[in-house]
Amino acid sequence: MEKKVNPVRNTVSNRAKAIGLLSGGLDSIVASRLILEQGIEVEALNFVTAFCTCTSKGSGCLASQKAADQLGIPLKVVDISEEILDVVKNPKFGYGSGMNPCLDCRIFVFKKAKEYMRESGAEFIFTGEVLGQRPMSQRREAMNTIERESGLKGYLLRPLCAKLFPPTLAEEKGIVDREKLLSISGRSRKGQISLTKRFNIKDYPCSSGGCLLTDKAFAQRMEDLIKYKQDFRLPDVMLLKYGRHFRMSPAVKLVVARDEEENFKLAALKNNSDIMFHAQDPLGPVSILRGSTGGEFVSEAASITARYALGKDNEGEVKIRYFTSQGDDKFLKTGPCGESAMKGRRI
Ligand code: SF4
Repeated sequence: MEKKVNPVRNTVSNRAKAIGLLSGGLDSIVASRLILEQGIEVEALNFVTAFCTCTSKGSGCLASQKAADQLGIPLKVVDISEEILDVVKNPKFGYGSGMNPCLDCRIFVFKKAKEYMRESGAEFIFTGEVLGQRPMSQRREAMNTIERESGLKGYLLRPLCAKLFPPTLAEEKGIVDREKLLSISGRSRKGQISLTKRFNIKDYPCSSGGCLLTDKAFAQRMEDLIKYKQDFRLPDVMLLKYGRHFRMSPAVKLVVARDEEENFKLAALKNNSDIMFHAQDPLGPVSILRGSTGGEFVSEAASITARYALGKDNEGEVKIRYFTSQGDDKFLKTGPCGESAMKGRRI
C-alpha cells in the first residue's frame, strides 16, 4: 500500500488523523499548522452555504482551497446551502445581531463534521476558534453549549485557545501534546499574526465579519422572507442577494435590479410563476413580481420599475415589456410611481 507523506513534516504517515474545519482565514491556518507540527495527519473540511461572503467558485471556496494547498493537506468541501435553511428558519438558540443563528449553525456544522470524523477514522476535530473572539458563538458558555449539543464533547480541540479549556480526549490519550497548544483569547489577532513568522505564512485573507446573515440589509430581507413565506427554499434566498425589494402584500414581492449585472441575475432567477418586467424606453431595470398576484400589482410594479428607469428626472413615460406567468409577452406605457406607492413597501 502506498504510504502517505505529510508535506509539512515530511514524515511517513501511519499516524493519528484529525479533521480540521478550514475556512481559509488566518486562525484556521495557524490551528492546522499547530496540529500538523505534532505529526498528526490532517484532512480539512469546509462547509459552504448560500450565505457565504467569500470568493466562491462553483460550490467551492477559493480561500479554503488556497489554504489547503499551502498547508499541503486534502480538502473536502461540503455544500449545506439547502440543509442550513431549516436552521436559519427556526434556531433553538436564537439570532445574533442580524438573522445569524450562530450557535445553531455551529452545532449543525459540527454534527456534520462528527459524521465525517467517524467515516474517515479520525480521532478528533479541530477548529481555529478563539475564546472571546466572536460575540455570539465564541463565548465560553456558547462554546461549551455547541460542543455538548453537537455530541462532540471531548472530541473538539481548539488549538489556539486549548489551554483555556479542560483537556480533550486526544490530549488525555497523548495523541496531542497539550504543552504545544496555545491560550489565546479576545478579539486582537496579535497572537496569531506573531505566529505567521514562525510558520512562514505569508498570504492569508482578512478575517471576515460573518456571513450574509449578519449584514443588516440582508437580514431585513431574510426576516421578511421568513415572516411571509414559511416554506421558502434556496431560490428564494438567492433572490435576496440582488436588487431593491418591495413588499407589495403578504403574498407578493417585487424585486427591481440596481444595475445591468443584476438585470441578468434577476432574469436567471425568474421562476415560471413570476411576472418579469423590463424597461425598454428609456432602457432600464429588470424587475420580478413574485407571489400569488391574482392579476393584481402589474401596473404598480411597472410604475415602480419606471421610476428607476427614469432616474433623477423622474418625469415622462416609460415603455415596459413584461412577461406574464402564462408566457405572454406584453407591453405597456406608464409614468413613475409617486412616493406614496413606495412608502412602507421597501424591505
Ligand atoms: S456568521 Fe453565519 S456562517 Fe458564521 S456561525 Fe454565524 S450564522 Fe453560521
